[in-house]
Amino acid sequence: MIPRLKPFLDRSELWASWRPSPDAVQRFECEFAKAFGGHHGIAFPYGRTAMRALLESLQIRDQEIILPAYTCVVVAHAIVLSGNRCRFVDATLTDYNMNLDQVEAAIGQRTAGIVPTHLFGYPLDLDRFDQIVDAAERRLGRKLLIVHDCAHSFGARWRGRLVTAERDAALFGLGISKLMTSVFGGMLVTGDERLAARLRAWREARVTGGSIHRWVRRLYLLATYAAFDPRLYGLVRWIESETPLLDRLTKAYHLDDCIRFPPDADGVMTDVEAQVGLAQLKKYDEVVARRVAHARYYAAHLSDVEQWRLPPLVDGATYSHYVVRVPDRGGEMSRFLRAGVQVGQLIDYSVPHMKSYAPISGPGEWPNSLMLSQHLINLPVHADLTDAERARVVEIAREEGRKAA
Ligand SMILES: *Cc1c(COP(=O)(O)O)cnc(C)c1O
Repeated sequence: MIPRLKPFLDRSELWASWRPSPDAVQRFECEFAKAFGGHHGIAFPYGRTAMRALLESLQIRDQEIILPAYTCVVVAHAIVLSGNRCRFVDATLTDYNMNLDQVEAAIGQRTAGIVPTHLFGYPLDLDRFDQIVDAAERRLGRKLLIVHDCAHSFGARWRGRLVTAERDAALFGLGISKLMTSVFGGMLVTGDERLAARLRAWREARVTGGSIHRWVRRLYLLATYAAFDPRLYGLVRWIESETPLLDRLTKAYHLDDCIRFPPDADGVMTDVEAQVGLAQLKKYDEVVARRVAHARYYAAHLSDVEQWRLPPLVDGATYSHYVVRVPDRGGEMSRFLRAGVQVGQLIDYSVPHMKSYAPISGPGEWPNSLMLSQHLINLPVHADLTDAERARVVEIAREEGRKAA
Protein backbone atom coordinates (compact mmCIF):
# COMPACT_ATOMS: atom_id res chain seq x y z
CA MET A 1 0.00 0.00 0.00
CA ILE A 2 1.33 3.44 -0.93
CA PRO A 3 0.08 5.81 1.81
CA ARG A 4 -1.49 9.16 1.01
CA LEU A 5 0.96 10.90 3.30
CA LYS A 6 3.98 9.97 5.31
CA PRO A 7 6.11 11.97 7.72
CA PHE A 8 9.79 12.02 6.76
CA LEU A 9 11.15 10.43 9.92
CA ASP A 10 14.18 8.29 10.52
CA ARG A 11 16.24 7.32 13.52
CA SER A 12 17.40 10.86 14.17
CA GLU A 13 13.96 11.98 15.37
CA LEU A 14 13.59 8.87 17.48
CA TRP A 15 16.92 9.41 19.24
CA ALA A 16 16.19 13.09 19.58
CA SER A 17 12.92 12.41 21.37
CA TRP A 18 14.74 10.48 24.08
CA ARG A 19 17.39 13.14 24.57
CA PRO A 20 15.89 15.47 27.15
CA SER A 21 17.05 19.04 26.97
CA PRO A 22 15.64 21.82 29.11
CA ASP A 23 16.22 24.51 26.50
CA ALA A 24 15.01 22.52 23.47
CA VAL A 25 11.76 24.47 23.05
CA GLN A 26 13.61 27.78 23.05
CA ARG A 27 16.18 26.50 20.59
CA PHE A 28 13.47 25.13 18.32
CA GLU A 29 11.61 28.46 18.38
CA CYS A 30 14.77 30.31 17.55
CA GLU A 31 15.97 28.07 14.74
CA PHE A 32 12.52 27.70 13.28
CA ALA A 33 12.07 31.47 13.12
CA LYS A 34 15.48 31.87 11.53
CA ALA A 35 14.77 29.19 8.93
CA PHE A 36 11.58 30.89 7.80
CA GLY A 37 12.69 34.47 7.84
CA GLY A 38 11.38 35.73 11.18
CA HIS A 39 12.98 36.89 14.41
CA HIS A 40 10.77 35.33 17.04
CA GLY A 41 9.15 31.91 17.14
CA ILE A 42 6.51 31.10 19.74
CA ALA A 43 5.60 27.42 20.06
CA PHE A 44 2.11 26.13 20.83
CA PRO A 45 0.50 22.70 21.04
CA TYR A 46 -1.33 23.31 17.74
CA GLY A 47 -1.40 25.90 14.99
CA ARG A 48 -4.99 26.70 15.93
CA THR A 49 -3.90 27.57 19.48
CA ALA A 50 -1.35 29.97 18.04
CA MET A 51 -4.06 31.68 15.98
CA ARG A 52 -6.32 32.03 18.96
CA ALA A 53 -3.44 33.32 21.10
CA LEU A 54 -2.69 35.96 18.51
CA LEU A 55 -6.21 37.38 18.48
CA GLU A 56 -6.66 37.18 22.23
CA SER A 57 -3.29 38.60 23.15
CA LEU A 58 -4.00 41.62 20.92
CA GLN A 59 -7.44 41.89 22.52
CA ILE A 60 -9.20 41.69 19.21
CA ARG A 61 -12.88 40.91 19.91
CA ASP A 62 -16.21 41.33 18.16
CA GLN A 63 -14.39 42.06 14.94
CA GLU A 64 -14.32 40.50 11.53
CA ILE A 65 -11.43 38.43 10.21
CA ILE A 66 -11.24 37.71 6.48
CA LEU A 67 -10.20 34.17 5.55
CA PRO A 68 -10.68 31.67 2.73
CA ALA A 69 -13.91 29.63 2.61
CA TYR A 70 -11.73 26.80 1.41
CA THR A 71 -9.18 26.23 4.15
CA CYS A 72 -8.61 24.16 7.24
CA VAL A 73 -11.58 24.68 9.54
CA VAL A 74 -9.44 25.03 12.66
CA VAL A 75 -8.45 28.53 11.59
CA ALA A 76 -12.12 29.52 11.57
CA HIS A 77 -12.54 27.83 14.96
CA ALA A 78 -9.77 29.99 16.40
CA ILE A 79 -11.47 33.13 15.09
CA VAL A 80 -14.87 32.19 16.53
CA LEU A 81 -13.50 30.92 19.86
CA SER A 82 -11.63 34.19 20.37
CA GLY A 83 -14.96 36.01 20.11
CA ASN A 84 -14.67 37.24 16.52
CA ARG A 85 -16.52 36.63 13.26
CA CYS A 86 -15.35 34.96 10.08
CA ARG A 87 -15.74 36.73 6.78
CA PHE A 88 -15.30 34.06 4.14
CA VAL A 89 -13.91 34.66 0.66
CA ASP A 90 -14.30 32.17 -2.18
CA ALA A 91 -11.43 30.24 -3.80
CA THR A 92 -10.14 30.75 -7.33
CA LEU A 93 -10.05 27.80 -9.68
CA THR A 94 -6.52 28.53 -10.83
CA ASP A 95 -4.50 27.75 -7.71
CA TYR A 96 -7.33 27.30 -5.16
CA ASN A 97 -6.17 30.25 -3.09
CA MET A 98 -8.63 32.90 -2.04
CA ASN A 99 -9.88 35.35 -4.62
CA LEU A 100 -8.07 38.65 -4.00
CA ASP A 101 -10.74 40.77 -5.71
CA GLN A 102 -13.17 39.44 -3.15
CA VAL A 103 -10.72 40.14 -0.34
CA GLU A 104 -10.53 43.73 -1.49
CA ALA A 105 -14.31 44.02 -1.58
CA ALA A 106 -14.73 42.39 1.83
CA ILE A 107 -12.55 44.85 3.77
CA GLY A 108 -14.68 47.27 5.75
CA GLN A 109 -15.08 49.17 9.03
CA ARG A 110 -15.42 45.98 11.06
CA THR A 111 -12.41 44.24 9.57
CA ALA A 112 -9.64 43.68 12.08
CA GLY A 113 -7.49 41.34 10.07
CA ILE A 114 -6.90 39.00 7.16
CA VAL A 115 -5.51 35.48 7.01
CA PRO A 116 -3.84 35.18 3.60
CA THR A 117 -3.45 31.43 3.16
CA HIS A 118 -1.00 29.74 0.83
CA LEU A 119 -3.07 26.64 0.29
CA PHE A 120 -1.44 23.37 -0.76
CA GLY A 121 1.84 25.29 -0.83
CA TYR A 122 0.89 27.74 -3.61
CA PRO A 123 2.19 31.22 -2.85
CA LEU A 124 -0.51 33.85 -2.93
CA ASP A 125 0.19 36.85 -5.18
CA LEU A 126 1.94 39.03 -2.61
CA ASP A 127 2.30 42.05 -4.89
CA ARG A 128 -1.41 42.32 -5.39
CA PHE A 129 -2.13 41.44 -1.77
CA ASP A 130 0.14 44.24 -0.53
CA GLN A 131 -1.52 46.77 -2.81
CA ILE A 132 -4.90 45.81 -1.42
CA VAL A 133 -3.80 46.01 2.20
CA ASP A 134 -1.91 49.29 1.77
CA ALA A 135 -4.87 50.93 0.07
CA ALA A 136 -7.29 49.62 2.70
CA GLU A 137 -5.11 50.82 5.57
CA ARG A 138 -4.90 54.29 4.03
CA ARG A 139 -8.65 54.35 3.55
CA LEU A 140 -9.44 53.11 7.07
CA GLY A 141 -6.69 55.16 8.72
CA ARG A 142 -5.53 52.17 10.79
CA LYS A 143 -3.55 48.99 10.52
CA LEU A 144 -4.98 45.59 9.73
CA LEU A 145 -3.63 42.47 11.39
CA ILE A 146 -2.17 40.27 8.66
CA VAL A 147 -1.42 36.65 9.58
CA HIS A 148 -0.06 34.51 6.80
CA ASP A 149 -1.31 30.95 7.18
CA CYS A 150 1.78 28.97 6.15
CA ALA A 151 0.68 25.57 7.42
CA HIS A 152 1.05 24.26 3.85
CA SER A 153 3.79 26.54 2.70
CA PHE A 154 6.80 26.62 5.03
CA GLY A 155 9.46 28.17 2.86
CA ALA A 156 7.22 28.88 -0.13
CA ARG A 157 8.20 31.94 -2.13
CA TRP A 158 6.31 34.45 -4.24
CA ARG A 159 8.76 35.77 -6.84
CA GLY A 160 11.62 35.09 -4.46
CA ARG A 161 9.93 36.51 -1.35
CA LEU A 162 9.42 34.09 1.53
CA VAL A 163 5.70 34.00 2.26
CA THR A 164 6.54 33.19 5.87
CA ALA A 165 8.38 36.46 6.46
CA GLU A 166 5.59 38.90 5.62
CA ARG A 167 3.68 41.49 7.64
CA ASP A 168 2.64 40.75 11.22
CA ALA A 169 2.97 37.02 11.69
CA ALA A 170 3.14 33.61 10.03
CA LEU A 171 1.19 30.64 11.32
CA PHE A 172 2.38 27.01 11.12
CA GLY A 173 0.97 23.63 12.04
CA LEU A 174 3.44 20.90 12.98
CA GLY A 175 1.26 17.78 13.20
CA ILE A 176 2.37 14.64 11.38
CA SER A 177 0.51 15.47 8.18
CA LYS A 178 2.43 18.72 7.67
CA LEU A 179 5.53 19.39 5.59
CA MET A 180 7.67 18.99 8.64
CA THR A 181 6.54 17.83 12.02
CA SER A 182 7.22 17.89 15.72
CA VAL A 183 4.55 15.16 16.04
CA PHE A 184 2.31 17.66 17.79
CA GLY A 185 2.73 21.38 17.74
CA GLY A 186 2.22 24.69 16.07
CA MET A 187 4.25 27.87 15.75
CA LEU A 188 3.84 31.58 15.23
CA VAL A 189 6.71 33.48 13.73
CA THR A 190 6.92 37.24 13.87
CA GLY A 191 9.41 40.03 13.43
CA ASP A 192 7.58 42.17 16.00
CA GLU A 193 9.22 41.98 19.40
CA ARG A 194 6.27 43.44 21.29
CA LEU A 195 3.88 41.01 19.69
CA ALA A 196 6.20 38.13 20.59
CA ALA A 197 6.25 39.28 24.22
CA ARG A 198 2.45 39.44 24.33
CA LEU A 199 2.14 35.97 22.88
CA ARG A 200 4.57 34.59 25.43
CA ALA A 201 2.64 36.25 28.23
CA TRP A 202 -0.61 34.76 26.90
CA ARG A 203 1.02 31.37 26.82
CA GLU A 204 2.39 31.70 30.34
CA ALA A 205 -1.01 32.56 31.70
CA ARG A 206 -2.86 29.95 29.76
CA VAL A 207 -1.06 26.73 29.06
CA THR A 208 -0.73 23.77 31.36
CA GLY A 209 1.11 20.47 31.31
CA GLY A 210 3.65 18.38 33.11
CA SER A 211 6.25 15.76 32.54
CA ILE A 212 3.66 13.02 32.01
CA HIS A 213 3.02 14.66 28.64
CA ARG A 214 6.54 13.89 27.51
CA TRP A 215 5.92 10.18 27.90
CA VAL A 216 2.65 10.36 26.03
CA ARG A 217 4.43 12.23 23.23
CA ARG A 218 7.17 9.65 22.96
CA LEU A 219 4.59 6.89 22.76
CA TYR A 220 2.79 8.73 20.00
CA LEU A 221 6.03 9.15 18.13
CA LEU A 222 6.73 5.42 18.43
CA ALA A 223 3.19 4.67 17.29
CA THR A 224 3.77 6.94 14.29
CA TYR A 225 6.81 4.95 13.24
CA ALA A 226 4.84 1.74 13.58
CA ALA A 227 1.84 3.20 11.76
CA PHE A 228 3.86 4.12 8.68
CA ASP A 229 5.85 0.92 8.55
CA PRO A 230 5.02 -0.61 5.18
CA ARG A 231 4.51 -4.03 6.75
CA LEU A 232 1.89 -2.68 9.11
CA TYR A 233 0.26 -0.04 6.99
CA GLY A 234 -2.67 -2.19 5.81
CA LEU A 235 -3.62 -2.99 9.39
CA VAL A 236 -3.18 0.59 10.47
CA ARG A 237 -5.36 1.81 7.64
CA TRP A 238 -8.06 -0.56 8.81
CA ILE A 239 -7.77 0.75 12.38
CA GLU A 240 -7.89 4.30 11.01
CA SER A 241 -11.01 3.78 8.93
CA GLU A 242 -12.92 1.42 11.23
CA THR A 243 -12.08 2.69 14.70
CA PRO A 244 -11.55 6.08 16.39
CA LEU A 245 -8.18 5.06 17.86
CA LEU A 246 -6.03 7.11 15.51
CA ASP A 247 -8.22 10.17 15.15
CA ARG A 248 -5.90 12.14 17.37
CA LEU A 249 -3.11 11.65 14.85
CA THR A 250 -4.89 11.54 11.54
CA LYS A 251 -8.09 13.56 11.69
CA ALA A 252 -8.48 15.34 15.00
CA TYR A 253 -10.04 18.27 13.32
CA HIS A 254 -13.71 18.63 13.01
CA LEU A 255 -15.43 15.37 12.44
CA ASP A 256 -18.16 16.17 14.88
CA ASP A 257 -18.70 19.48 13.08
CA CYS A 258 -18.54 21.47 16.32
CA ILE A 259 -16.73 24.72 16.89
CA ARG A 260 -14.33 23.69 19.63
CA PHE A 261 -10.74 22.79 20.30
CA PRO A 262 -9.55 19.43 21.59
CA PRO A 263 -8.93 19.31 25.35
CA ASP A 264 -5.15 19.34 24.93
CA ALA A 265 -5.13 22.57 22.91
CA ASP A 266 -4.01 24.38 26.05
CA GLY A 267 -1.07 22.07 26.63
CA VAL A 268 2.59 22.94 26.40
CA MET A 269 5.03 22.03 23.72
CA THR A 270 7.51 19.78 25.50
CA ASP A 271 11.20 19.29 24.83
CA VAL A 272 10.29 15.98 23.20
CA GLU A 273 8.44 17.67 20.35
CA ALA A 274 11.02 20.43 20.15
CA GLN A 275 13.83 17.91 19.75
CA VAL A 276 11.92 16.14 16.98
CA GLY A 277 11.24 19.50 15.33
CA LEU A 278 14.92 20.46 15.48
CA ALA A 279 15.84 17.20 13.76
CA GLN A 280 13.17 17.81 11.11
CA LEU A 281 14.35 21.35 10.40
CA LYS A 282 17.63 19.92 9.11
CA LYS A 283 15.75 17.92 6.48
CA TYR A 284 13.36 20.58 5.39
CA ASP A 285 15.05 21.59 2.14
CA GLU A 286 15.33 17.99 1.09
CA VAL A 287 11.64 17.40 1.86
CA VAL A 288 10.53 20.27 -0.35
CA ALA A 289 12.95 19.41 -3.14
CA ARG A 290 11.51 15.89 -3.27
CA ARG A 291 7.95 17.18 -3.32
CA VAL A 292 8.72 19.57 -6.13
CA ALA A 293 10.29 16.73 -8.09
CA HIS A 294 7.20 14.57 -7.57
CA ALA A 295 4.90 17.40 -8.65
CA ARG A 296 6.92 17.95 -11.83
CA TYR A 297 6.82 14.26 -12.57
CA TYR A 298 3.06 14.10 -12.20
CA ALA A 299 2.63 17.23 -14.29
CA ALA A 300 4.71 15.71 -17.06
CA HIS A 301 2.97 12.34 -17.04
CA LEU A 302 -0.65 13.08 -16.24
CA SER A 303 -1.47 16.11 -18.34
CA ASP A 304 -3.48 14.13 -20.89
CA VAL A 305 -5.48 11.97 -18.49
CA GLU A 306 -9.05 12.44 -19.59
CA GLN A 307 -11.26 14.58 -17.37
CA TRP A 308 -8.49 15.30 -14.90
CA ARG A 309 -7.60 18.89 -14.11
CA LEU A 310 -4.05 19.12 -12.78
CA PRO A 311 -2.84 21.88 -10.47
CA PRO A 312 -0.50 24.49 -11.92
CA LEU A 313 3.26 24.22 -11.59
CA VAL A 314 4.31 27.37 -9.80
CA ASP A 315 7.82 28.57 -8.98
CA GLY A 316 8.31 28.75 -5.24
CA ALA A 317 5.45 26.36 -4.37
CA THR A 318 6.04 23.63 -1.80
CA TYR A 319 3.34 21.12 -2.90
CA SER A 320 2.16 20.15 0.53
CA HIS A 321 -0.52 18.43 -1.54
CA TYR A 322 -0.67 17.63 -5.23
CA VAL A 323 -4.36 18.16 -5.88
CA VAL A 324 -6.22 16.99 -8.96
CA ARG A 325 -9.79 17.93 -9.83
CA VAL A 326 -11.77 14.86 -10.90
CA PRO A 327 -15.45 14.36 -11.80
CA ASP A 328 -16.02 11.32 -9.58
CA ARG A 329 -13.90 11.52 -6.46
CA GLY A 330 -15.32 8.49 -4.69
CA GLY A 331 -14.87 6.35 -7.78
CA GLU A 332 -11.26 7.46 -8.28
CA MET A 333 -10.41 6.91 -4.64
CA SER A 334 -11.70 3.36 -4.56
CA ARG A 335 -10.13 2.55 -7.91
CA PHE A 336 -6.73 3.67 -6.57
CA LEU A 337 -7.26 1.83 -3.33
CA ARG A 338 -7.99 -1.43 -5.11
CA ALA A 339 -4.70 -0.95 -6.94
CA GLY A 340 -2.81 -0.38 -3.67
CA VAL A 341 -2.58 3.40 -3.58
CA GLN A 342 -4.27 5.57 -1.02
CA VAL A 343 -5.13 9.00 -2.39
CA GLY A 344 -6.29 11.78 -0.10
CA GLN A 345 -9.32 14.06 -0.16
CA LEU A 346 -8.00 17.15 1.51
CA ILE A 347 -9.90 19.46 1.98
CA ASP A 348 -13.30 17.78 1.74
CA TYR A 349 -15.46 20.54 3.17
CA SER A 350 -16.17 24.18 2.53
CA VAL A 351 -16.12 25.98 5.88
CA PRO A 352 -19.14 28.31 5.42
CA HIS A 353 -21.19 25.36 4.17
CA MET A 354 -20.53 23.26 7.26
CA LYS A 355 -23.40 22.64 9.64
CA SER A 356 -21.74 24.56 12.44
CA TYR A 357 -20.82 27.53 10.23
CA ALA A 358 -23.77 27.92 7.87
CA PRO A 359 -25.85 29.83 10.46
CA ILE A 360 -23.00 32.27 11.18
CA SER A 361 -21.46 32.60 7.73
CA GLY A 362 -23.25 35.82 6.87
CA PRO A 363 -24.30 36.74 3.37
CA GLY A 364 -22.32 35.42 0.45
CA GLU A 365 -21.90 32.38 -1.71
CA TRP A 366 -18.83 30.31 -2.16
CA PRO A 367 -19.52 28.11 -5.17
CA ASN A 368 -15.88 27.33 -5.98
CA SER A 369 -15.15 26.34 -2.42
CA LEU A 370 -18.14 23.99 -2.44
CA MET A 371 -17.17 22.49 -5.77
CA LEU A 372 -13.53 21.96 -4.71
CA SER A 373 -14.65 20.33 -1.48
CA GLN A 374 -16.34 17.67 -3.60
CA HIS A 375 -13.91 17.18 -6.48
CA LEU A 376 -10.29 17.34 -5.31
CA ILE A 377 -8.13 14.34 -4.66
CA ASN A 378 -4.49 14.55 -3.68
CA LEU A 379 -1.83 12.16 -4.91
CA PRO A 380 1.04 10.98 -2.71
CA VAL A 381 3.97 13.43 -2.87
CA HIS A 382 5.73 12.73 0.42
CA ALA A 383 9.49 12.89 0.52
CA ASP A 384 9.78 9.14 1.10
CA LEU A 385 7.87 8.28 -2.08
CA THR A 386 10.18 6.32 -4.37
CA ASP A 387 10.49 6.74 -8.12
CA ALA A 388 8.92 3.31 -8.58
CA GLU A 389 5.98 4.27 -6.38
CA ARG A 390 5.23 7.48 -8.19
CA ALA A 391 5.51 5.63 -11.51
CA ARG A 392 2.92 3.21 -10.14
CA VAL A 393 0.60 6.12 -9.27
CA VAL A 394 0.90 7.36 -12.83
CA GLU A 395 0.28 3.91 -14.21
CA ILE A 396 -2.95 3.56 -12.24
CA ALA A 397 -4.08 7.03 -13.21
CA ARG A 398 -3.57 6.21 -16.87
CA GLU A 399 -5.05 2.75 -16.77
CA GLU A 400 -7.02 1.63 -19.78
CA GLY A 401 -10.76 1.56 -19.19
CA ARG A 402 -10.57 4.20 -16.48
CA LYS A 403 -13.69 5.87 -17.63
CA ALA A 404 -15.73 2.71 -17.54
CA ALA A 405 -14.73 2.07 -13.94
C1 LIG B 1 -3.01 22.22 9.68
C2 LIG B 1 -3.42 23.57 9.34
C3 LIG B 1 -3.42 24.61 10.29
C4 LIG B 1 -3.06 24.41 11.75
O1 LIG B 1 -3.57 23.25 12.23
P1 LIG B 1 -3.36 22.61 13.68
O2 LIG B 1 -3.89 21.24 13.48
O3 LIG B 1 -4.17 23.41 14.63
O4 LIG B 1 -1.90 22.63 13.99
C5 LIG B 1 -3.76 25.87 9.86
N1 LIG B 1 -4.09 26.12 8.56
C6 LIG B 1 -4.10 25.16 7.62
C7 LIG B 1 -4.44 25.52 6.21
C8 LIG B 1 -3.78 23.85 7.98
O5 LIG B 1 -3.78 22.89 7.05
